[in-house]
Amino acid sequence: MKQVLKTLKIKSLNNGVSTGVESWAGGGKVLSSYSPVDGQLIGKVRQANREDYDKVIEKSNAAFKVWRTVPAPKRGEIVRQMGDALRANKDALGRLVSYEMGKSLQEGWGEVQEMIDICDFAVGLSRQLYGLTMHSERPQHRMYEQWHPLGIVGIISAFNFPVAVWSWNSMLAWVCGDVCVWKPSEKTPLTAIACQNIIQEVLRKNDIPEGVSCLIVGDRKVGEWLSNDTNVSLVSATGSTRMGKTVGQAVAARFGKSLLELGGNNAIIVTQNADLEVVIPAVVFGAVGTAGQRCTTTRRLFLHESMYEEVKNRLVKIYAQLRIGDPLDVNNHVGPLIDVDAVNNYKTAIANIQNEGGKVLYGNEVLEGTGYESGCYVKPTIVEVENQSPTVCHETFAPILYIKKFSTLDEAIELQNAVPQGLSSSIFTLNMREAEQFLSYAGSDCGIANVNIGTSGAEIGGAFGGEKETGGGRESGSDAWRNYMRRQTNTINYSTQLPLAQGIKFDL
Ligand code: NAD
Repeated sequence: MKQVLKTLKIKSLNNGVSTGVESWAGGGKVLSSYSPVDGQLIGKVRQANREDYDKVIEKSNAAFKVWRTVPAPKRGEIVRQMGDALRANKDALGRLVSYEMGKSLQEGWGEVQEMIDICDFAVGLSRQLYGLTMHSERPQHRMYEQWHPLGIVGIISAFNFPVAVWSWNSMLAWVCGDVCVWKPSEKTPLTAIACQNIIQEVLRKNDIPEGVSCLIVGDRKVGEWLSNDTNVSLVSATGSTRMGKTVGQAVAARFGKSLLELGGNNAIIVTQNADLEVVIPAVVFGAVGTAGQRCTTTRRLFLHESMYEEVKNRLVKIYAQLRIGDPLDVNNHVGPLIDVDAVNNYKTAIANIQNEGGKVLYGNEVLEGTGYESGCYVKPTIVEVENQSPTVCHETFAPILYIKKFSTLDEAIELQNAVPQGLSSSIFTLNMREAEQFLSYAGSDCGIANVNIGTSGAEIGGAFGGEKETGGGRESGSDAWRNYMRRQTNTINYSTQLPLAQGIKFDL
């Protein structure tokens, strides 16, 4: 890890504020980052205070006036270079993600690959920020719409995707002509600083003014400042539904724009027509990958009664064989939870579900002893439930899978939709009618609905996000870029008359 930290220019005491050119030690408290892998201190950061925040916003406002004049394809060229810089650092950054956040090394590398992919996507997009043209109802008039940059985009990110989610937002925002202020999770500040260090070199090489890419390390206070600041045109916030409610209300109160990516409570439906050889790995990866700490983690499994016992028994058998330990060891399947608070949430949820009638089939254990000194390792758990009690309807960010039997597909779809969240969902079936029913308007109510693929592991090409308490935002691919721009409709009259729309007469 020493070499990784050196490559990424992470020191024992780091500056928590950066404008993309200059970085400085903030006036806030020192934050220590401990690894959930082994409990060791990785490094410290001097966080920002309000004065630092105001300085960053001032620089960002000034930078926006310059950055928006750079042609979009030229902005894309800078993002292309950022993608190359990330490629060069993929191994080291992936290792730091794994060590600071606790996800498997494969997933750490995968997260950096996702950043590279979004850079490639954004480069192409920089030449495709298309508006529409319309036929005017008036003679010798032309109508069209165009998209302009918004201004400052505030990015509040969660610990579980400490770097990828920032890049989904920032790479798109930059090609759109916006400038970005990133407030990373206080649980993963060092990966954020590592990203800023990588990006900063590209910005410097290209003489990009300070303020285009800013980083402010701090606690939720910084998130609140961004939410309440009329200087910040868009607040893109990823995290819990609790956080999203506060941020969404604060931004709406000042008529700002928000893009909310919040909690999920994702389900897989397995019908009697499913191929179980595909189901089993999809469920296990979905439920225990990232130790159940993905927004798209599979938390609920609805099994048709005809193969309920078989799938249940196979899952319990596989869970008993999962290797839990250091996520940097590629032989392990499951790493730690982010911290001891998360372990307590795991324990509380299992105790609650037992009180609500759930039966633990496997797991419900915090691991102790050699290799588990951080106190953050738990056994992935399977709980059999008869109904969707309050604990099942709540997102617990831990590897707990609730399984339930169903008789008809209508019943399974109703169960799947009967939670407050609406992020990701899947059906496993080889029957075309079942698949199409699930995908229809009367099917899944989630932002993501898959067939014969699990709930987690989205590609960047599609718009990512969910409905209901998941917040309604869409990020990443497809036309999500429109969130980062403002639409302007233009009507041009090249006639010698002034006809009014709807044929209204106004004679002088
Ligand atoms: P969290 O809500 O505790 O924190 C997320 C971020 O919000 C942090 O940077 C935090 O400092 C900030 N924050 C907290 N309260 C705030 C407030 N009142 N105002 C402004 N900022 C505030 O979430 P977490 O524990 O880091 O992440 C896990 C959650 O994130 C889960 O619910 C998960 O489902 C969700 N998540 C959603 C997506 C998605 O795309 N839908 C992706 C990743 C994670």
